[in-house]
Amino acid sequence: MYDYLIVGSGLFGATFAHEAKLRDKRCFVIEKRPHLGGNVYCEKMEGINVHKYGAHIFHTNNKEVWDYVNAIVPFNRYTNCPVANYHGKLFNLPFNMNTFYQMWGVTTPEQAIKKIEEQKAEAVAKMKGEGVSEPRNLEEQGLCLVGKDIFENLIKEYTEKQWGRKCSELPAFIIKRLPMRFVFDNNYFNDQYQGIPVGGYNKLIDGLLEGVDCKTDTDFFHSKFRDWRKYAKSLVYTGPLDEYFNFKFGRLDWRTVYFKTFVVNTPNYQGNAVINYTSHEKPYTRVIEHKHFEMFGQTVYNYPKTVISEEYSTEYKEGMEPFYAVNDEHNNALADQYRQLAEKEVGVLFGGRLAEYKYYDMAPVIEKVINYFK
Ligand SMILES: Cc1cc2nc3c(=O)[nH]c(=O)nc-3n(C[C@H](O)[C@H](O)[C@H](O)COP(=O)(O)OP(=O)(O)OC[C@H]3O[C@@H](n4cnc5c(N)ncnc54)[C@H](O)[C@@H]3O)c2cc1C
Repeated sequence: MYDYLIVGSGLFGATFAHEAKLRDKRCFVIEKRPHLGGNVYCEKMEGINVHKYGAHIFHTNNKEVWDYVNAIVPFNRYTNCPVANYHGKLFNLPFNMNTFYQMWGVTTPEQAIKKIEEQKAEAVAKMKGEGVSEPRNLEEQGLCLVGKDIFENLIKEYTEKQWGRKCSELPAFIIKRLPMRFVFDNNYFNDQYQGIPVGGYNKLIDGLLEGVDCKTDTDFFHSKFRDWRKYAKSLVYTGPLDEYFNFKFGRLDWRTVYFKTFVVNTPNYQGNAVINYTSHEKPYTRVIEHKHFEMFGQTVYNYPKTVISEEYSTEYKEGMEPFYAVNDEHNNALADQYRQLAEKEVGVLFGGRLAEYKYYDMAPVIEKVINYFK
């Protein structure tokens, strides 16, 4: 008899098992995939850790969480500095003085601000001319927030690829703010701490699950463990919320992405971990070159090949990986119905991005489990 049967070996399940074990509780983790780790799992190819379920960069302002993960595996100094490619022209992201210099040749914050304000004013004047005071769609919203050049080169077509719809047909509220920095700083995150586990995310998961009984290739719903009370005092469920209740109110929607991964016979394909393709010219949204998450300087050349993944946005269909909760009115209401049922389930904790139907970065998932045990 275990204290906890844990369904899912992602960061929520693994951190839960770790904390429970520290308190001398016995845990059994079941995982339907053939490997542990959920979406942070990395597959080794050509000696490179490939982020199989999408690029994962750990970042946080929470020192407690940072120290917690670093006590399990040290993190490297990777800093996310994505680059945008628009018809072969490169721009630094997030929008900062480097971007403005590449766009207009401006060299001071004052010049950049002037240029942006001019273009924002043009957008507002155009709308006024049409008798409109509030942006009616995402296109107008973007133009009012950053002006024509930044919007058209770096946002418009990228967003259209992500959503599969024209910006002029998307609601304005999708983009509330578009932060701009008037300093030469390409660091994507504002958080104090960021990095990648040295040796990859599997080291973090293995560390968290050390000494914990785990079974892969085991789907909770299609195994004897569905009858979990025979095996454990409590259940920790990190799978999809609607599936637990056999979709009785209907299915929750998800957004998803898929990847095409290639080995390329060159040590350094694009010189950066993340390149966004911001025009329709390429059908994918990003190309990830995995080695740059963990290899720096000359080390890149110690491996003669490289592995890249093209990332494509697509509509979610049954059987695909459910990646991002769609938090619109319909889905939020549906999720609330399920949450009410979940509250009534005795001895079951629903946790993580699937069971809570909520997007979480990695650090907040860990923080949530730590706080639960506190
Ligand atoms: C494309 C993408 C990129 C991301 N990039 C970042 C990033 O850069 N930085 C960041 O901080 N966060 C990022 N995240 C978020 C990060 O992936 C999540 O915070 C983290 O995975 C949440 O862990 P989890 O345990 O809740 O979910 P998961 O990792 O999904 O784990 C849930 C596990 O439950 C298993 N499971 C489900 N149903 C069953 C069942 N019936 N039986 C048995 N097992 C089951 C699943 O197979 C899965 O392994 C990204 C997410 C995505 C989708």
